[in-house]
Amino acid sequence: MRIDIDTDVCIGAGQCALTAPKVFTQDDDGFSTVLPGREVGAGDPMVREAARACPVGAIRVSEPAG
Ligand code: SF4
Repeated sequence: MRIDIDTDVCIGAGQCALTAPKVFTQDDDGFSTVLPGREVGAGDPMVREAARACPVGAIRVSEPAG
């Protein structure tokens, strides 16, 4: 799993960090960021839920080919 956060789109609503706190956090400016070591989602099924919960669609979850 690969997680991309479009910080140009993120409005810092924090829904991702609320939904999947083991993977997402917010930086000092309130923007979403992935916790160190969790760049591939750590197998957390809530990652997709967090992507859906984002009100501006800033999170993209994809599966790398191969
Ligand atoms: S839910 Fe979306 S807008 Fe809110 S902090 Fe997370 S990525 Fe940013």
